[in-house]
Amino acid sequence: MTDTADCCKVSRSLHLFGRSSYLEELARTADRGNTSLRDLETRVNRVITEGALEAASGPIDLAVRTIIDALSGDPSPRVRARVRTRLTQRDVDPDQLKNAYVSYRTIKNHLNECEHIDTSRDESPITPARATDTIGWSETRHEAIIQRTLERLRSANELELRGSIEVSIHTTVTCDRCHSSTPLRALLNGNAACNCDT
Ligand SMILES: [Zn+2]
Ligand SMILES: [Zn+2]
Repeated sequence: MTDTADCCKVSRSLHLFGRSSYLEELARTADRGNTSLRDLETRVNRVITEGALEAASGPIDLAVRTIIDALSGDPSPRVRARVRTRLTQRDVDPDQLKNAYVSYRTIKNHLNECEHIDTSRDESPITPARATDTIGWSETRHEAIIQRTLERLRSANELELRGSIEVSIHTTVTCDRCHSSTPLRALLNGNAACNCDT
Protein backbone atom coordinates (compact mmCIF):
# COMPACT_ATOMS: atom_id res chain seq x y z
CA MET A 1 0.00 0.00 0.00
CA THR A 2 1.30 3.45 -0.82
CA ASP A 3 1.75 5.61 2.21
CA THR A 4 -0.54 8.45 1.23
CA ALA A 5 -0.75 11.38 3.63
CA ASP A 6 -3.66 11.01 6.01
CA CYS A 7 -5.86 14.07 6.25
CA CYS A 8 -6.72 13.64 9.95
CA LYS A 9 -7.45 11.09 12.65
CA VAL A 10 -10.42 9.58 10.76
CA SER A 11 -8.19 8.69 7.84
CA ARG A 12 -5.27 7.64 10.08
CA SER A 13 -7.45 5.26 12.10
CA LEU A 14 -9.04 3.64 9.06
CA HIS A 15 -5.64 3.40 7.42
CA LEU A 16 -4.12 1.78 10.50
CA PHE A 17 -6.70 -1.01 10.38
CA GLY A 18 -6.62 -1.51 6.63
CA ARG A 19 -9.91 0.24 5.90
CA SER A 20 -8.83 3.38 4.01
CA SER A 21 -11.29 2.41 1.30
CA TYR A 22 -14.13 3.29 3.67
CA LEU A 23 -13.30 7.02 3.45
CA GLU A 24 -15.08 7.31 0.13
CA GLU A 25 -18.20 5.57 1.36
CA LEU A 26 -18.20 7.79 4.45
CA ALA A 27 -18.12 10.93 2.29
CA ARG A 28 -20.88 9.61 0.03
CA THR A 29 -23.09 8.70 2.98
CA ALA A 30 -22.52 12.07 4.66
CA ASP A 31 -23.21 13.86 1.40
CA ARG A 32 -26.64 12.27 1.11
CA GLY A 33 -27.37 13.93 4.44
CA ASN A 34 -29.78 11.46 6.02
CA THR A 35 -27.36 9.84 8.45
CA SER A 36 -26.60 11.65 11.71
CA LEU A 37 -23.06 12.30 12.86
CA ARG A 38 -23.68 9.96 15.80
CA ASP A 39 -24.63 7.18 13.39
CA LEU A 40 -21.57 7.89 11.26
CA GLU A 41 -19.45 7.66 14.42
CA THR A 42 -20.91 4.21 15.12
CA ARG A 43 -20.30 3.08 11.54
CA VAL A 44 -16.69 4.28 11.40
CA ASN A 45 -15.85 2.63 14.72
CA ARG A 46 -17.48 -0.60 13.54
CA VAL A 47 -15.39 -0.54 10.36
CA ILE A 48 -12.21 0.07 12.39
CA THR A 49 -13.09 -2.81 14.73
CA GLU A 50 -13.85 -5.13 11.82
CA GLY A 51 -10.43 -4.27 10.39
CA ALA A 52 -8.82 -5.14 13.72
CA LEU A 53 -10.69 -8.47 13.87
CA GLU A 54 -9.62 -9.35 10.36
CA ALA A 55 -5.99 -8.62 11.20
CA ALA A 56 -6.16 -10.67 14.41
CA SER A 57 -4.13 -13.86 14.66
CA GLY A 58 -7.27 -15.96 15.14
CA PRO A 59 -11.04 -15.75 15.60
CA ILE A 60 -12.27 -13.57 18.47
CA ASP A 61 -15.61 -14.71 19.76
CA LEU A 62 -17.00 -11.26 20.55
CA ALA A 63 -19.53 -9.04 18.84
CA VAL A 64 -18.17 -5.86 17.29
CA ARG A 65 -20.59 -3.81 19.41
CA THR A 66 -19.36 -5.53 22.58
CA ILE A 67 -15.77 -4.67 21.78
CA ILE A 68 -16.54 -1.02 21.06
CA ASP A 69 -18.61 -0.67 24.23
CA ALA A 70 -16.01 -2.39 26.35
CA LEU A 71 -13.16 -0.22 25.10
CA SER A 72 -14.81 3.15 24.70
CA GLY A 73 -17.91 2.96 26.88
CA ASP A 74 -18.28 2.49 30.57
CA PRO A 75 -18.46 -1.28 31.06
CA SER A 76 -18.09 -3.18 34.29
CA PRO A 77 -14.42 -3.84 35.15
CA ARG A 78 -15.09 -7.55 34.63
CA VAL A 79 -16.40 -7.09 31.07
CA ARG A 80 -13.60 -4.71 30.21
CA ALA A 81 -10.97 -7.15 31.48
CA ARG A 82 -12.54 -10.05 29.58
CA VAL A 83 -12.66 -8.17 26.27
CA ARG A 84 -9.12 -6.85 26.67
CA THR A 85 -7.83 -10.34 27.41
CA ARG A 86 -9.56 -11.87 24.38
CA LEU A 87 -8.16 -9.18 22.11
CA THR A 88 -4.65 -9.47 23.51
CA GLN A 89 -4.70 -13.28 23.09
CA ARG A 90 -5.28 -12.70 19.37
CA ASP A 91 -2.56 -10.07 19.09
CA VAL A 92 -4.91 -7.12 18.89
CA ASP A 93 -3.61 -4.29 21.07
CA PRO A 94 -6.70 -3.03 22.95
CA ASP A 95 -5.14 0.37 23.65
CA GLN A 96 -4.22 0.90 20.02
CA LEU A 97 -7.77 0.02 19.00
CA LYS A 98 -9.31 2.21 21.69
CA ASN A 99 -7.13 5.15 20.65
CA ALA A 100 -8.13 4.66 17.02
CA TYR A 101 -11.84 5.16 17.74
CA VAL A 102 -13.19 8.48 16.56
CA SER A 103 -15.82 10.74 18.09
CA TYR A 104 -18.64 12.36 16.11
CA ARG A 105 -16.81 15.69 16.54
CA THR A 106 -13.73 14.27 14.84
CA ILE A 107 -15.93 12.97 12.04
CA LYS A 108 -17.63 16.33 11.72
CA ASN A 109 -14.23 18.04 11.40
CA HIS A 110 -13.12 15.48 8.85
CA LEU A 111 -16.25 15.97 6.75
CA ASN A 112 -16.14 19.77 6.99
CA GLU A 113 -12.39 20.37 6.69
CA CYS A 114 -11.04 17.44 4.67
CA GLU A 115 -14.05 16.53 2.52
CA HIS A 116 -15.70 19.97 2.37
CA ILE A 117 -19.09 18.50 3.16
CA ASP A 118 -21.48 20.74 5.04
CA THR A 119 -22.94 18.94 8.07
CA SER A 120 -24.73 21.92 9.63
CA ARG A 121 -28.19 20.65 8.68
CA ASP A 122 -27.48 17.80 11.04
CA GLU A 123 -27.14 20.09 14.03
CA SER A 124 -29.81 22.74 14.22
CA PRO A 125 -32.64 24.33 12.28
CA ILE A 126 -31.94 26.72 9.45
CA THR A 127 -31.86 30.47 10.21
CA PRO A 128 -30.88 33.42 7.98
CA ALA A 129 -27.56 33.69 9.84
CA ARG A 130 -26.77 30.01 9.32
CA ALA A 131 -27.81 30.20 5.69
CA THR A 132 -25.48 33.17 5.20
CA ASP A 133 -22.63 31.22 6.79
CA THR A 134 -23.21 28.12 4.69
CA ILE A 135 -23.59 30.05 1.44
CA GLY A 136 -20.55 32.22 2.20
CA TRP A 137 -18.53 29.10 2.92
CA SER A 138 -19.72 27.51 -0.32
CA GLU A 139 -18.87 30.60 -2.40
CA THR A 140 -15.41 30.88 -0.87
CA ARG A 141 -14.81 27.24 -1.61
CA HIS A 142 -15.94 27.54 -5.21
CA GLU A 143 -13.84 30.66 -5.70
CA ALA A 144 -10.83 28.68 -4.46
CA ILE A 145 -11.55 25.79 -6.84
CA ILE A 146 -11.93 28.11 -9.84
CA GLN A 147 -8.79 30.02 -8.87
CA ARG A 148 -6.72 26.84 -8.50
CA THR A 149 -8.01 25.51 -11.81
CA LEU A 150 -7.13 28.73 -13.62
CA GLU A 151 -3.68 28.71 -12.03
CA ARG A 152 -3.11 25.19 -13.26
CA LEU A 153 -4.24 26.21 -16.70
CA ARG A 154 -1.78 29.10 -16.60
CA SER A 155 1.04 26.81 -15.44
CA ALA A 156 0.30 24.66 -18.46
CA ASN A 157 0.68 27.76 -20.65
CA GLU A 158 -2.94 27.55 -21.71
CA LEU A 159 -3.97 30.84 -20.15
CA GLU A 160 -2.41 34.26 -20.60
CA LEU A 161 -2.97 36.25 -17.47
CA ARG A 162 0.00 38.05 -15.95
CA GLY A 163 -1.12 39.34 -12.59
CA SER A 164 -2.36 37.32 -9.65
CA ILE A 165 -5.69 35.62 -10.30
CA GLU A 166 -8.60 36.74 -8.17
CA VAL A 167 -11.95 35.06 -8.56
CA SER A 168 -15.17 36.33 -7.06
CA ILE A 169 -18.58 34.76 -7.30
CA HIS A 170 -21.69 36.93 -7.34
CA THR A 171 -24.80 34.82 -7.12
CA THR A 172 -28.13 36.06 -8.41
CA VAL A 173 -31.50 34.57 -7.58
CA THR A 174 -34.41 34.78 -10.02
CA CYS A 175 -38.13 34.32 -9.40
CA ASP A 176 -39.54 32.26 -12.26
CA ARG A 177 -42.97 33.96 -12.06
CA CYS A 178 -42.05 37.64 -12.39
CA HIS A 179 -38.53 37.06 -13.70
CA SER A 180 -37.02 39.62 -11.36
CA SER A 181 -33.47 38.93 -10.21
CA THR A 182 -32.03 39.80 -6.84
CA PRO A 183 -28.41 39.59 -5.76
CA LEU A 184 -28.10 36.80 -3.22
CA ARG A 185 -26.61 39.15 -0.61
CA ALA A 186 -29.61 41.46 -0.80
CA LEU A 187 -31.94 38.50 -0.50
CA LEU A 188 -30.17 37.25 2.61
CA ASN A 189 -30.24 40.74 4.09
CA GLY A 190 -34.02 40.62 3.94
CA ASN A 191 -34.56 42.81 0.90
CA ALA A 192 -37.55 42.08 -1.30
CA ALA A 193 -36.99 38.94 -3.32
CA CYS A 194 -39.21 39.67 -6.31
CA ASN A 195 -41.89 41.84 -7.93
CA CYS A 196 -44.75 39.37 -7.87
CA ASP A 197 -46.92 41.52 -5.58
CA THR A 198 -46.14 44.95 -7.00
ZN1 LIG B 1 -9.78 13.98 7.45
ZN1 LIG C 1 -41.76 36.91 -8.36
